[in-house]
Amino acid sequence: MIVMKFGGTSVGSAAMIRRVIEIVTSRQEPIVVVSAVSKVTDLLIQAARAAEKGNHASCLNEIAGIHALILKELGLPQSLLAEQMGLLERLLDNIADSGRLTSMQLDEVCSFGERLSVIIVAAAGSEIGMRAYNAYDLGLVTDENFGSAEVLPEAYGRLKIAFTSIPQGTIPVVTGFLGRTTDGRITTLGRGGSDYSASLIGAAMDSEAVEIWTDVNGIMSADPRIVPGVRTIPEVTFEEASELAYLGAKVLHPKTILPVIRKGIPVIVLNTYEPTAAGTQIVRDAERKDGITAIVRKKGLSIVNVNSERMFLMHGFLHKIFNVFDEHRISVDMVSTSEVNVSVTVDSRSDSGMEEAVRKLGEFSRVSVEDGKASISVVGRGIKRNPDTTARIFATLSAMGINPEMISQGASEINIGLVVEASDADKAVRALHAEFFGGAK
Ligand code: ADP
Ligand code: ASP
Ligand code: MG
Repeated sequence: MIVMKFGGTSVGSAAMIRRVIEIVTSRQEPIVVVSAVSKVTDLLIQAARAAEKGNHASCLNEIAGIHALILKELGLPQSLLAEQMGLLERLLDNIADSGRLTSMQLDEVCSFGERLSVIIVAAAGSEIGMRAYNAYDLGLVTDENFGSAEVLPEAYGRLKIAFTSIPQGTIPVVTGFLGRTTDGRITTLGRGGSDYSASLIGAAMDSEAVEIWTDVNGIMSADPRIVPGVRTIPEVTFEEASELAYLGAKVLHPKTILPVIRKGIPVIVLNTYEPTAAGTQIVRDAERKDGITAIVRKKGLSIVNVNSERMFLMHGFLHKIFNVFDEHRISVDMVSTSEVNVSVTVDSRSDSGMEEAVRKLGEFSRVSVEDGKASISVVGRGIKRNPDTTARIFATLSAMGINPEMISQGASEINIGLVVEASDADKAVRALHAEFFGGAK
């Protein structure tokens, strides 16, 4: 058995869906996991926000139009999606009536992206035995953290029972991204979470491999949209892949590797546009020499500076600071300390708890927040043993007039992180990529 996950662009048109079916046909006992059609999740979020003000009609039309075109080109009846589209419209109307959008409703609205895409893909592949399923009907239970729900341990056992009872010869086409609380409310696993759904199912089913089919040739030495001339990384360890994903390589959701590590199930990142290309193998042990693997960046960060001359390095000070972030579910990326100061980077979008966290920190220190930052991470093997790497990073940035605001070598052996102005991030990535991999700056 093999789990194959296809992302938004891979199911973004009739032609791509036909390719997907061809690729699936080449595998033994596939379980297919799909994302929403490209751009649909963004449009659903927009529709939900517009619905609060009663303005959702045009977004809803756009969503309907995208799916209608794919159905038409596949020669499938428009009636196929009528029920789901009706449910979505009613939900948006209810939000409009109340004038309020809860995080629970936002997840329910988002769920329609994958609920619609599985129906289309399964109908297009009915001849090869495809059938649509909602992952939450197959036991993917989560906590109630809407927008970024965590999977409950019992999900694995439930998924196994549900998949095992699917008749032989059926190829399940399952929603990525979605789960359900134990009392039946739909949740989402965080943006890009279909990769995570696939690896969860892979782990539950002890699959031979989990294939992540996307629109590029595997994990590359930098984001190909930012840097020309990037190359595919043929093989990485679970640890490196997690690190790359966590530090900003969007090609993989950061949690993807977690479910498969213990069982050692390989994850392979492949390109739907070029199915014969080798892509990237993510495995337990990879044969690798020392050197730089990739340059990744993450935008949308803020720096929180916490100052306290009186308290610094006193027993319990750091604990107090991190407790505040923890209580507000704000995850801290990078930390740097000086004699009187602790600076951390946080995701700017964790705005819900941020104000309150800053107020709490202010009770025992001086706090300032700087928005509009990005982190750049140079990831590789043995980079800390090689002082030359750090020198080259600084020389490269300095030549571009970019001054890193924070520097961290991370707890792991495999990255050096810097924080820069978000507006400098892409050119810094290009320059560092050219420095370490060659090519034009
Ligand atoms: P999918 O819809 O298939 O899940 P995503 O858009 O989530 O696809 O992820 C694929 C995209 O990730 C690529 O198109 C690429 O622009 C981006 N990306 C960012 N960093 C990297 C990297 N290091 N290697 C490959 N792709 C990357
Ligand atoms: N459709 C979801 C998103 O756009 C999940 C995914 O694509 O993995 O975030
Ligand atoms: Mg993705």
